Amino acid sequence: MFFYYIYPGLWETFFSGLGMEPIISRPSTIKTVEKASQISETEHCLPNKLFDAHLAELVGKVDMVFVPRVLSTIKNHLSCPKFGPLPDAARADIARETKVLSIEIDESRRPLSESLMLLGKQLKSQKSQIRSAINSSLRAMDSAKNQRVRSQKKKGGLHFLLIGHPYVIYDNFIAGPILQKLEKMGCEVELISFAEDAPAKSYILWSTANLIYHTMKTLSREEYDGVIQITVFNCGCDSMMIDTYRSLMKEKNIPFMYLMVDEHLAQSGMDTRVEAFVDSLGWRP
Ligand code: SF4
Repeated sequence: MFFYYIYPGLWETFFSGLGMEPIISRPSTIKTVEKASQISETEHCLPNKLFDAHLAELVGKVDMVFVPRVLSTIKNHLSCPKFGPLPDAARADIARETKVLSIEIDESRRPLSESLMLLGKQLKSQKSQIRSAINSSLRAMDSAKNQRVRSQKKKGGLHFLLIGHPYVIYDNFIAGPILQKLEKMGCEVELISFAEDAPAKSYILWSTANLIYHTMKTLSREEYDGVIQITVFNCGCDSMMIDTYRSLMKEKNIPFMYLMVDEHLAQSGMDTRVEAFVDSLGWRP
């Protein structure tokens, strides 16, 4: 699911707490992408296509699939409108032979704990069991978020911050090769943290974009040698934000590059761009 990394540890702990056995789809590989190309809409963005392939991987192996309708993960912010129809699309097509469990997550309208209570009731669990599952899952999520602390710049390798949507920068197919390339070149790479629950308000109403924007405002040249944005083909949100991120980094004198990934990821082309960016940092006065 798209927001697995925004709510780390939450879902497994919650469903286990209700006596269920959660199964998580495996990391994306080239096979996932091939499957996505066969079954998904050509107009979808890459994460949406990968979502369809992950869903197809689970169908037939589980008693039900969980596809929440994520409208807002931060109060007074919005999620991408593509998440709204996901449960209906799953029921109508790829998961039509399977029970689709869903809940609306709209933190502008009600807190996450209330959504979890409604989800537990749908599963006909006892109220006391649901309460205990909610408490333990929220604790598990907090502890997972606290582990993702900002790393300090060390002497030696260049230190980069990787930014992008959580399901992009944590995806094995999309970001994996870029991360590996940077690490092979001796660079330290930090993935942007989504642990902050309420970024300061700004004119940006998209939750992920506002979190990225506020994190970028706190960066300094002393801490980071560069920022790399990983974006995906056909993402309207990213195409609206790239110039904002780029000019913010220009003001701070932090080198910035964006890499766009689609399902025809050419490793050699990506490697060349990463190498050129890293090498160019050595020419800076
Ligand atoms: S924000 Fe972009 S990448 Fe994410 S679902 Fe929407 S269009 Fe796709």
